[in-house]
Amino acid sequence: MKKILITGAAGFLGSHLCDRFIKEGYKVFGMDNFITGDAKNIAHLSNNPDFEFIDHDVTKHIDFEGDLDYILHFASPASPIDYLKIPIQTLKVGSLGTHNLLGLAKAKDARILIASTSEIYGDPLVHPQTEDYYGNVNTIGPRGVYDEAKRFQESITMAYHTFHGVETRIVRIFNTYGPRMRLNDGRVIPAFMGQALRGEDLTVFGDGSQTRSFCYVDDQVEGIYRLLLSDYSHPVNIGNPHEISIRDFAEEIIKLTGTTQKVIYKDLPVNDPMQRQPDITLAKKILGWEPKVDRAEGMKITFDYFKSLTEDELYKSEH
Ligand code: NAD
Ligand code: UDP
Repeated sequence: MKKILITGAAGFLGSHLCDRFIKEGYKVFGMDNFITGDAKNIAHLSNNPDFEFIDHDVTKHIDFEGDLDYILHFASPASPIDYLKIPIQTLKVGSLGTHNLLGLAKAKDARILIASTSEIYGDPLVHPQTEDYYGNVNTIGPRGVYDEAKRFQESITMAYHTFHGVETRIVRIFNTYGPRMRLNDGRVIPAFMGQALRGEDLTVFGDGSQTRSFCYVDDQVEGIYRLLLSDYSHPVNIGNPHEISIRDFAEEIIKLTGTTQKVIYKDLPVNDPMQRQPDITLAKKILGWEPKVDRAEGMKITFDYFKSLTEDELYKSEH
């Protein structure tokens, strides 16, 4: 049985990855310190003999007994309001945490895939974003703590690959959504859906002309799975290229949820990227991957998930 360590296991993407690798017949070790995660996301795995949970902060030295075949490093705050609240931890998990995990991969002779992000392109001047674009990031802006941690993460990963011969993979994840996102994580999908469910107006930041391209979680997990098993060690974009402005997206959510509330406009956060769309030519070519779930279908599944939350969870999520 192949053994895989998944950090950030109690988070949105990490918990879906745990499910996928268990389904594929792996023994999964999930590691998390719950700083932005939720035990509820992995509660269904608690009695599964193929799953073991390790409560640990990956910025601290990691002692792992036994052998390991693969590591997926997904631990990191991932939403702007999270990493603005805990900027130092965000920098540390991308730098010290990644260093620890690369050291572990080297010691165990394991292949490691790290979760990078479209955010390394910053507010991009090239559109859509191809992997060879270097990006446009404000190092000292409020988002810099996340963007630069992820850029450092890519650099140290390539250095371990080049200098130590560690087998590394780098996925550049574009906005991904689905069940188990935290209602109060501030990202646009939980924000709009939570507002619709609570009967509040939908808050569009700026004039809403900025764009994003949303990828359903199952498609994202499939791309990550294929990349891990591929022999490609340079960064690969995984995301859904179907781009929409945030203003139009708010209208879609109003239709989907049937809310009678309206859109209200608030200030655009500093350095909020104006456009974002992955070029997935490389993923198609080397992984034979492209997204299968369209936005209408994915949003319906996600809204059903948010509707199933308790009143307590729904109202606790206001901030
Ligand atoms: P999330 O906040 O739901 O999950 C992150 C998990 O990491 C949480 O469970 C958190 O408790 C854990 N964690 C954070 N710091 C830790 C530490 N020091 N030690 C141990 N655990 C720690 O976020 P997510 O959306 O699931 O994102 C997962 C990864 O994917 C992140 O690395 C993020 O940067 C990357 N990513 C996600 C998206 C997206 O759209 N969801 C886009 C780009 C990149
Ligand atoms: N956004 C918005 N209203 C909200 C939350 C977010 O208009 O209540 C906007 C935000 O300014 C950004 C886009 O939606 O332009 C996506 O934001 P998110 O935090 O989901 O992801 P990111 O900016 O990291 O891509």
